[in-house]
Amino acid sequence: MTTIQEAIAEASKRIDRFEAKLLLAHCLGVGRTYLITHDKDCLSPTVLQHYEECVQARENKMPVPYITGTQEFFGRSFSVTPDVLIPRPDTETLIEFILEKTSGKGPLSLLDLGTGSGCIAITLALENPSLAVTATDISEKSLSVAKNNANQLNANVSFFLGDWFKALTMPKKFDVIVSNPPYIDSQDKHLENLPFEPIGALTDGQDGLSHIRHLITEAPKYLRHDGLLAFEHGWDQGAEVRSLFSNSLWTDIITVKDLGGNDRVTAANLL
Ligand code: GLN
Repeated sequence: MTTIQEAIAEASKRIDRFEAKLLLAHCLGVGRTYLITHDKDCLSPTVLQHYEECVQARENKMPVPYITGTQEFFGRSFSVTPDVLIPRPDTETLIEFILEKTSGKGPLSLLDLGTGSGCIAITLALENPSLAVTATDISEKSLSVAKNNANQLNANVSFFLGDWFKALTMPKKFDVIVSNPPYIDSQDKHLENLPFEPIGALTDGQDGLSHIRHLITEAPKYLRHDGLLAFEHGWDQGAEVRSLFSNSLWTDIITVKDLGGNDRVTAANLL
């Protein structure tokens, strides 16, 4: 018979010890403290078998959130599948920026383009209930993950399927438009480290800026006067995104750094 303690010790020879604990807690459907208080408990063959599969998947470099099916974002647990990008701490920079810009401003409409797991749209809807949030995605599978998350977390978000603004079925002008589009340059070596996530959520297959260029061009049709357009982008794309906004239509162009001190979010207001 294998105890919790023994199973973790064995798995820790193959994968990170913290992750070994996370995965066992997942297999048992318990929190991590349970593993400490029950470390001498024996594991059933079914749990052991499931745990072995999880440890093997991690050994094969599958990200933990795809194994456990969940990822924390802004203090909430989101369901994820390999159909969606795994929510990143970097994206909390976009959340904090939008919350700061919209706090105390009364009812505002907000559009999240390419919502993926829905983490941006749902977090904003829950953190600022005066935002009426709409979210889109081109992938039907992503949209069903996002809808499921909105239900689980009790967030009121309207979802539309389609290619960027084309997803919107009715002409509408928003107060705020946000997006975390696929912005990694197709030549970026970093992509090789992300083989499990949907490629279409990571890169545009070009220089990484084609979607941002498209959205900046199209957004004036969908933004109210003085409306805010904000993007998450790569650590080295701040200057280029600012220059895409540098024309007679936009004002108050600003770049915000993430916790690592890198340019992460660039935004501007429509004149
Ligand atoms: N921030 C992610 C990464 O670099 C990419 C997310 C995106 O392209 N929107 O791994």
